[in-house]
Amino acid sequence: MSPIDSLPPLRAVLAEHGLDPKRSLGQNFLLDLNLTGRIARQALPLDDATVVEIGPGPGGLTRALLAEGAARVVVVEKDSRCIPALEAVAAHYPGRLEIIRADALEFDLATVQRPEGAEALKIVANLPYNVGTQLLLDWIATPQWPPLWSSLTLMFQREVAVRIVAAPGSKHYGRLGVLAGWRTEARILFDVPPEAFTPPPKVTSSVIQIRPRAVPEPASLAKLETVTAAAFGQRRKMLRQSLKSLGGETLLLAADIDPQRRAETLTIREFVRLANGLQ
Ligand code: SAM
Repeated sequence: MSPIDSLPPLRAVLAEHGLDPKRSLGQNFLLDLNLTGRIARQALPLDDATVVEIGPGPGGLTRALLAEGAARVVVVEKDSRCIPALEAVAAHYPGRLEIIRADALEFDLATVQRPEGAEALKIVANLPYNVGTQLLLDWIATPQWPPLWSSLTLMFQREVAVRIVAAPGSKHYGRLGVLAGWRTEARILFDVPPEAFTPPPKVTSSVIQIRPRAVPEPASLAKLETVTAAAFGQRRKMLRQSLKSLGGETLLLAADIDPQRRAETLTIREFVRLANGLQ
C-alpha cells in the first residue's frame, strides 16, 4: 500500500491517542487508505469543493479527501478523543481542514462558511450506524430546495443502502425509498466487507451516492411522511385498509389509485398524488 501522505499509519494514530473503538458511537474505523481513497474519489471533482465529513474519527477518510485535492474539509465529530488526531491532519494540510466537535444531529449545515458564489457542499461520510438514517432524512427533508448540498457520498449498512435505492415492487421499498426517491437520485456504488473495518461490524456495508433532483414533484414533506408511514405501517394490507384513517377509498379514488393495491406497488408519483389529496 503506498502512503497518501507522510502522516503516521492510522493504526499508530489509534494507539497514540488511545482511540479504543466505542460501540455506542458506531466506531468502526477504516484504516486502509486505499479504500478511503476510493471512497473520496467518488466525490470528485474536489478542487473547488467544500466537503463536510460527519464522524471523521481518527481521520482516514479526511486524509483521503485532502490528498484527493479537496479545497476545504469541515469535519463534525462527537468524540473529543479524536480531536488531537484530527489536529495533526489539519497541521499537515494548513488552512484546509476545519474541526468542529459537535453532535452531527444538532449541526446546522447552513453554518458552514463558504466563499461567495461557491458551489454547494459535498457531504462525504462513513456514517455512524446509529444515527445514519436520521442524518440522511434530515438532509433530504430540508425545507430549502435545491438543498445546501450537491452530493452525498455515504457509507451505510448494506441493508439500509438497499432500502434507500429500492424501487416499487421490491420488498425493500418503503418510507425511506419513497422519501429518497422523491427528492433525489440514489445509487449504490460498491460494497465494503466487514473485515475492512476495525473492529469489523456484523454486516456488509455499501457506499451510496445521492444527488438532489432539480425539480421534485411538488408535495408537502409532512403529508408524504404521513401517507407513507400509514401505507407501509401495514404493508401487507390493501391500501383501502391501511389508509382508512386518512380517507381510505375516497382518498385513493380521488388520486386515481385502485383501493385494492398494496403500498409496495405504488410509484413515488402515486404517493405524491395521495399526499397532495390529504386534507
Ligand atoms: N470516518 C471514520 C472512518 O471512516 O474510519 C470513522 C467512521 S465511524 C463508522 C463513525 C464516526 O462517527 C466515529 O468517529 C464516531 O465517533 C462519530 N460519531 C458517532 N456519532 C456521532 C454524532 N452523533 N455526531 C458526530 N459524530 C458522531
